Amino acid sequence: MKKNKNISDSLLDFLGRCPTPYHAVEYLAGFLRENGFQPLKESESRGKLNPGNYFIVHQDGGLAALSLTGTPLEESGLRLAGAHTDSPGLKVKPFPVRRKNNCLQLGVEVYGGALLGSWFDRDLSLAGRVSWIEKNNIFKTGLINFQNPLAVIPSLAIHLDRDANAKKSINKQKDLVPMLLLSEQDDSFEEILTLQIKKENKTADPRQILAHDLFFYDVQKPARIGLHEDFLTGARLDNLLSCFTLVQSLIHAPDVQNSLLILYDHEEVGSVSANGARGPFLRMLLKRLLPDSDRRQQMLSRSLLISVDNAHGVHPNFIDKYDPEHLPTLNNGPVIKWNANQRYATDSVTGGFFRALCGRAGVPVQDFVMRNDMACGSTIGPLTAAETGIKTVDIGVPSLAMHSIRETAGSKDCVFLLQVMQEFFSLLPVDALWKGHCQ
Ligand SMILES: [Zn+2]
Repeated sequence: MKKNKNISDSLLDFLGRCPTPYHAVEYLAGFLRENGFQPLKESESRGKLNPGNYFIVHQDGGLAALSLTGTPLEESGLRLAGAHTDSPGLKVKPFPVRRKNNCLQLGVEVYGGALLGSWFDRDLSLAGRVSWIEKNNIFKTGLINFQNPLAVIPSLAIHLDRDANAKKSINKQKDLVPMLLLSEQDDSFEEILTLQIKKENKTADPRQILAHDLFFYDVQKPARIGLHEDFLTGARLDNLLSCFTLVQSLIHAPDVQNSLLILYDHEEVGSVSANGARGPFLRMLLKRLLPDSDRRQQMLSRSLLISVDNAHGVHPNFIDKYDPEHLPTLNNGPVIKWNANQRYATDSVTGGFFRALCGRAGVPVQDFVMRNDMACGSTIGPLTAAETGIKTVDIGVPSLAMHSIRETAGSKDCVFLLQVMQEFFSLLPVDALWKGHCQ
């Protein structure tokens, strides 16, 4: 019980510290380094990798971690796991400043499929990546995180919108512009960013801000809630819960075999980017691991990918939104996701594999399929499977309020996920379960 609490405590701490994919990647890279993983650079020469543990950061928002035992990869295959680092939210526009009625406001774009109603009346802060020119004319980029609440998107009072409870619609351009501060203080946005860069990076001395990738976020800390603390609430559980648990699983697996963990950015906006699952990140890594295409193909045919992304747990107030025979509940273990139209990559081999894996790990397992009269979401699973031909299963912990500014998950489910993924990374050989060698 204490161990479980420790894992979910460190997950909550991680969620609170990582408001953007860049912060999550920086944190996880530091954590991997502390645990003996060596950094690799994409720009350095591509000599053979010795047995050991490695990680590689891809353009700030993507991360891969690698454990190599020395067993030839074409014989052992790879235990692959994947997740995404990004979450829906509000991204600051390139030239965002709007001054209106004594207010400084920042215009935003909606990033991904955010549940917009949840963004009103929250204490918001701002974090992300900025590029600038230093006083000595050097180009620099860095991360900033204001941490303190500095903005809010107030609702319109019920007296001015009597229909608000019956039919609320949100105009993304007009209704969602955060109020930053009173304009009397008259700071320019560039000055605000310059001061923050200097505050967080003592050696920086920006002469000109060039551009930014900044996101608003809720400053309310993630928490463990419920009479018996059975639930976790917080932003970005989709899908930083999975990223964090996968990294923990790889580090702490008792007898880790040849394994590769890949975390992509930009899943929430379709994955078409240099950092997305439709980009070349995984392909480049696999080529680096085995430059010879025959041997690489052998390796891929013996590998399996577990694509980990939160699933829809049953919401007791809306039970008619779910298929009646597939009702995953919080704290009852990871969910295998099925879709006949390949919105999820699971099939009877890979779904069966994961169910057997859970059995070996002593972890309960559940299933989800979308109702036929509702559209099904997707994940990095089918994209990665289509790109590489690797056998893939889509799974994830059940959660509520997906894409809200504050989501809910079960506090036991991250522990179940950790246990089954540790079993996976230690599996020898990876195809044992479907080749009939299973004990
Ligand atoms: Zn997701």
